[in-house]
Parts: sequence; structure tokens; C-alpha cells
Amino acid sequence: MQGNARERSNALRVTTSIDRSATQSAENVWEMAQQQLDEVAHLIGLSEGIHLYLRQPKRILEVSVPVRMDDNRVRIFTGFRVQHNMSRGPGKGGIRFHPDVTLDEVKALAMWMTWKCALVNIPFGGAKGGVICDPKAMSMQELENLTRRFTSEISVIIGPEKDIPAPDVYTTPQIMAWIMDTFSMQKGYSIPGVVTGKPIAIGGSLGRDKATARGCLYVVDEAMSVTKQPIEGARVAIQGFGNAGMHAATLMAERGYRIVAASDSRGGVANPTGLDVRGLIAHKLETGSLVGFGGGEKISNKDVLEYECDVLVPAALEKVITRENAPRIRAKIVAEAANGPTLPEADAILHDRGIMVLPDILANAGGVTVSYFEWVQDLQENFWEEDEINARLKQKMTRAFRETHEQATRHGVDMRRGAYAVAVDRVAEATKLRGLYP
Ligand code: GLU
Repeated sequence: MQGNARERSNALRVTTSIDRSATQSAENVWEMAQQQLDEVAHLIGLSEGIHLYLRQPKRILEVSVPVRMDDNRVRIFTGFRVQHNMSRGPGKGGIRFHPDVTLDEVKALAMWMTWKCALVNIPFGGAKGGVICDPKAMSMQELENLTRRFTSEISVIIGPEKDIPAPDVYTTPQIMAWIMDTFSMQKGYSIPGVVTGKPIAIGGSLGRDKATARGCLYVVDEAMSVTKQPIEGARVAIQGFGNAGMHAATLMAERGYRIVAASDSRGGVANPTGLDVRGLIAHKLETGSLVGFGGGEKISNKDVLEYECDVLVPAALEKVITRENAPRIRAKIVAEAANGPTLPEADAILHDRGIMVLPDILANAGGVTVSYFEWVQDLQENFWEEDEINARLKQKMTRAFRETHEQATRHGVDMRRGAYAVAVDRVAEATKLRGLYP
């Protein structure tokens, strides 16, 4: 595994793309992901060969996606599928539809999936996809056309034994259904295991919709116990009200936490005595946003992060906790339901201030964990009850929390490094055992 491992992994790439990392700023998420790995590599004494190998994605595919729009014109979109590492199993990770998607972002997200799957100890590697588009400005027909053609373009590298996509930012169970159908039609028979996060009626799993939020709740409960804080009435602020944020609000409120602030990309509301979560969700579903909800005061999407609370849940996009706002964060626990919300420089500030950050690869791993359960159920054609799914999820999440906490304590580092120590070590072990081919 020493020597020219990197050259060899580069030789394995199927790439039609230009790596833009060199032209982007230091706050580039891909550099951030690599930096996180570098820090832990030293901590756990990773060999140089494996370190260099894990620093790069195994395979990158960039595709042009021609789509017939409602006005009958053809638009060309750009999409990516990145497979970071597959030593522990097939690639796994969502597909994001967003106007700001970049290849570097998808590379970072794929690397984070590798660590996430290893941390919760499910037999998957890491992958991620993205399409540069604005789904909010597209009709259902246009979205379907885009999804089907993108699926067809990446079908050469996905499949139940190769790489299994799932939902991510602005992609839904309906979109997963189109992916499943397109792939199945190409092969000539139904292949539900090619994608997770599907509707129940076509092989989806019970509990998958709320799984990211439920997993987040389980690890926050553990963190509350470790930091000796009572759950009842603990104040929670949530940035982002998509699949993760919205369900987190519901589940945390049911558990006894008090949701004091919430926002989406357009703005939000705050109420120190607690928001009426049901009313808030009804408002969001009706109007498409939290803005204008009567049960609290208006607050911006940015200010939610600095709101007085015990638990802060960033559940939207990357890089929102920075050197500037980290000194003003008032939570005692930050639970990263989003991927990559905290910049490395902010991590250090939060750690110094005694704030416990539950890193993304732990805090949002519930989604991919139940995706794993969905894939297993699809392959076995045998479906489980929701109670069983939630119980198995709880077991995986609490074990991952404890292993993370143990490593963090042992090395005297924050929870992100603790989680990386567990995850990177597992991936390194698998990579080393398998050795280099040929
Ligand atoms: N997109 C989710 C994540 O970032 C879920 C991925 C999956 O279920 O494969 O973890």
C-alpha cells in the first residue's frame, strides 16, 4: 500500500471532468474534507500510502444531461457521481439537486459518506451525486425527464452491488422511484435495491423518511446524558426545515425538548417559550416556507445559529458555522444534521469554548443506516416492522456515539476527530487487508 498507491488509484478513475479544486478558495469544502482527514491521519498514525490513497476519490464521472423542457426546448444540465472508496462494500450516498452543486462539493460529500458508513459500521463505501439545477424552478415533468436521463447516464457505474444512490438536498422519494424505474427498465426487470429512500409501495423501508432526524435525536440524547443536562425543556434551535430539520423538530418536541427557533432558506421564527411544531409544519406545507408563521418572532436564517439555546441543529447546507459566528454560538451541543456545516477553524473555536459538536458523520448517519436496512430488505424481499427498524437504528447510533466518545476521550480531542479515528481506522484496515490489485 506504500509508494505509488495514488498513481494507481488515479489510473482507476473514469473521469471526463476537470478538477477545479486548485482554482477555488481555501474555504472550499473539498479542501476542508481533506484537511479533516489529514488531522486524524497524524492522530491515529495512518501509514503514508493509505493516507494518500484515502485523500482522493476512487472514481469520478461527469455527465451532460440533455432534458426536454416544457417549452419544448432542450437544456443541457451537468451532473456528477463520485465514488470515494469501496473497500468496505458498494458505494453509498445521496444525489443532490441544487443550483450551487460543484464537483468539489460532491467529492467532499462522497468522502464524508465513506467515513459515515464506516462509523456506523455498515458494509458500504462512500459515494455521492449531484446535478446543477434549480428544482424549485422546474415542473414535475422536467424533473422527471432530468432524473431519468441522469440515471441513464450514470447507470454504467451504479447498481445494487456497485453503488446505491439515495435522497439528499432537494431530492425526494418520487425522484428515487424514477431512478429505480429507469434503471429497472434498462435492465429489463425490477431492481429495487439500486436506490434507497424509495416510496414504501415499491420497496422503500418504513422509518426511512424520519431516519436522519431520528438518528440525530438518539445521539443528542446520548450527548445530553454525557454532559449531564436534562432533556425535558432543553432548548433547541434548528437551521433548515427540509427532511432532516422538519422531522427533527417533530421528534425532538415529542421527546420533551423545546423547539425555540427554526428557519429555512427564506427566514424563520423564534419563541423562547417554545414553538408550536405542528402549527409550524402545517404553515411550511401550506406556504412552502416558515416565514410569516404567527407563533413567534421573525428571525433570519443566519441568526438562528446564534439564538440562545442548549442544542443547535444545523440541518441545511455546508460552511454555515465560521470563524465569525462561532464565538457567538450559545448552544452547549451542536448536532450536525447537515453535511459539513462547520468549517475547521470554527471547530477549533467551538471546542475551546467547551461546546460539544456531534459531527455530521455521526449526527446524520441515521439516514444512511436505514438506507442500509432498506437495501437489505430489498435484496431479501422480506420487509421489517417499523419498531424493529427503529430499535436497530438506535443500537447502531448509540454504539457509534459511544465509540466516538471513547476515542475522543482517549486522544483528548473533539468528537469529530474521535469519530474520524473510529471510521478512518476501519476503512484503512479494510483497504490494507484487501491490498492492491493487481
Ligand atoms: N444523503 C444522505 C446522507 O448524506 C443519505 C445517504 C443514503 O441514504 O445513502 O447521509
